Amino acid sequence: MTHCPDTAPAPIAPPDLPLQEAVDLLDGATSVTILCHVQPDADTVGSGLALGTVFARRGTPVQVAFASPSELPASMATLPGVDLLVPADRVAHEVDLLVAVDCGSAGRLGTLASRLDGARRSLVIDHHRSNTRFGTFNLIDDAAVSTTAVLTEVFDRWGVPIDADLAHCLYAGLVTDTGSFRWGGPGSHALAERLLATGIDAAAITRRLLDSHPFGWLPMLASVLASAELFPAARDGRGLVHAVIRCTDSAGLGAEEIESVIDIVRTTAEAEVAAVFKETAPQSWSVSLRSKDDVDVAAVAERLGGGGHRFAAGYTTSGSSADVVAALREALG
Ligand code: 5GP
Ligand code: MN
Repeated sequence: MTHCPDTAPAPIAPPDLPLQEAVDLLDGATSVTILCHVQPDADTVGSGLALGTVFARRGTPVQVAFASPSELPASMATLPGVDLLVPADRVAHEVDLLVAVDCGSAGRLGTLASRLDGARRSLVIDHHRSNTRFGTFNLIDDAAVSTTAVLTEVFDRWGVPIDADLAHCLYAGLVTDTGSFRWGGPGSHALAERLLATGIDAAAITRRLLDSHPFGWLPMLASVLASAELFPAARDGRGLVHAVIRCTDSAGLGAEEIESVIDIVRTTAEAEVAAVFKETAPQSWSVSLRSKDDVDVAAVAERLGGGGHRFAAGYTTSGSSADVVAALREALG
């Protein structure tokens, strides 16, 4: 089967799959590759490891992987099932079923998008509204707060009991994608209660995922936040605030330190929209967008070749920092 680049819509989007058919597909798989998105977060890795653990327990050959970076971020190193992770270049070229978790488009698989071609069938499990339905089968619930919440429904329908190890992985995606339950939708607290009842240590899990940074994080924040700019007139006076993290700012720091910056910038009361430009290589940028009430940043990101959710989206781009900031201001209106 073919796959599409990040920017192009799927030529003919296959319809979304009912839960039972997704379960039948998983149940019948004879070998499985589970792919997480590039620059993985706890929702994609938590989903990948939970599903991988279920297959491993059934005795089904399974690999879990993401294309880049080469190392799992330190904050996720204690998630159960990390031994199922294989380096990107060791991912089998042929497999019965490929499952992509938390990926809105094939481009989010990075170089591992190539593995779609050698999979007999593929299943996309996701909650991004902008999902391009790039799998042969797609289980997309854009009302779900996290991909791990979608996966919980899959496990329930499949008859998979959720023990502490699975709950740990599922909670990791739930707590991070809800901003520690600041913006969870209906059901997120009920799901948390159910996962916590397995005995997992939620405080320790959350501290490791969200509240642990090396000392070098502090001077990086000082320098990046000092250069933040506010454009009160952007988007009909709703306001835009942005900050730029250059490679020189983040040298020696991990993904957690870089990804934390948007959560500080987005608290700016004078701006409805927040952006953080993260330099990944000279003149190459990964951009995080956030909004609060009435700006759909997924639509803005899609205009710039990316995607995401209404209040949290992103895209990749290239150019000088002045150029990429100007392009965002133009797209935002
Ligand atoms: P973050 O700012 O945390 O990296 O991403 C926020 C949201 O935007 C996530 O849901 C993520 O999937 C989406 N996103 C971030 N970068 C990209 C990108 O380059 N392409 C697409 N399609 N979505 C992105
Ligand atoms: Mn997610």
